Amino acid sequence: MDTEVVIIGAGISGASLSYHLKQRNISHLVMDKEGIASGASGSAGAFLLYKLFSNSLVNHFSNLAYFYSLRLYEEIGVELNRNPSFFVNRLSSDVWLNQKAKATSIYGKDGYLVDSGYFVNPLDTVNGLMDKDSFLLGDVKEIKKEDDFYLINGEIKCKKIIIANGSDDSFLSDYLKIRKMSGVRIEVESEIENRYHIYSDVSISSSMDGKMVIGSSNHRDNHSFQDRDIGVLLEKANDILDIKPDKINYKHGIRACSVDYFPYVGELIDEERTIQENPNIKDGRKIKKFFYKEGIYTLRGLASKGFSMAPYLANELISFIYDGKALSSEISLERRFARYIRKINSTQ
Ligand SMILES: Cc1cc2nc3c(=O)[nH]c(=O)nc-3n(C[C@H](O)[C@H](O)[C@H](O)COP(=O)(O)OP(=O)(O)OC[C@H]3O[C@@H](n4cnc5c(N)ncnc54)[C@H](O)[C@@H]3O)c2cc1C
Repeated sequence: MDTEVVIIGAGISGASLSYHLKQRNISHLVMDKEGIASGASGSAGAFLLYKLFSNSLVNHFSNLAYFYSLRLYEEIGVELNRNPSFFVNRLSSDVWLNQKAKATSIYGKDGYLVDSGYFVNPLDTVNGLMDKDSFLLGDVKEIKKEDDFYLINGEIKCKKIIIANGSDDSFLSDYLKIRKMSGVRIEVESEIENRYHIYSDVSISSSMDGKMVIGSSNHRDNHSFQDRDIGVLLEKANDILDIKPDKINYKHGIRACSVDYFPYVGELIDEERTIQENPNIKDGRKIKKFFYKEGIYTLRGLASKGFSMAPYLANELISFIYDGKALSSEISLERRFARYIRKINSTQ
């Protein structure tokens, strides 16, 4: 089988890449070992959070992505559940922030209210973006470089590969490793009619057809969830709003967090050659010239913001590959690699 691009992973990242490739009529395959949205994307909230908390570079970047994703979701007809957002005891006295959030009390809790906030159905969103004809169920086990193409599992020929494998570290070097944070999405039926998206230790969505979604992260490791964790989360949610849940469905997932809040996006660096050709690297000097594993790219490390960031980042990556548009330095792999090398040097 021949195709131009193989994407490894059919979560929100892989689906967003598929959408942007399809827009350009570029042939591609999205491969997933377990199915569409079988990783973190299937267990996400999925709240779209406009970052109010401070005017930092990370938040500025997240907000750019947020508006891009909202526009795209509207365009393709993803149902956007829009409701006011209530932050329980969360916000500081940041002046910029207070122009947008109103201090108030809801359900007997003090906090801040923002007039809008969105929540989407993660499965509908991933499916809405994915070009279904390009999906292939399959575990990518081997990538081999041949003359001018790559061979996947000894049978699929492609020119380019984009690794969007979430919390799986295969095919990626140490500088692109992520921190894993496990979490859970709980769907409850409840007679309580809640019209706010609530953010506290747990996130609670507004009611939709008698259902609410509760999302949370509990463990900064690969620990798998236990039933008692669900009980603890429900207790926390009940403390804010007397939910008295009826039926409960839940799904565990692992958030893939980068080490410095910015996602990893770009062409993989040929570390060996880059180190070899920049001998001063060991004295802490700046890397003058980078070398790349040509045609292999990644998009990962989206932490808790996959649904507001992936569409924007996918567009940036595809524009980088096909139009030569530079990637923002915050997300670039060059910056990540340089920081990684500096850290290694400082510990030697
Ligand atoms: C409990 C929880 C709540 C969350 N809440 C929110 C929220 O409210 N808002 C928000 O924006 N984000 C939220 N997130 C984060 C969000 O889910 C992630 O940022 C996003 O889903 C990451 O998407 P992804 O496509 O990069 O990775 P994933 O969805 O993990 O997809 C990676 C895919 O790659 C596949 N794969 C890996 N290796 C291979 C291989 N070798 N061959 C084939 N396939 C492979 C996996 O099967 C998987 O399907 C939450 C996450 C969790 C766990």
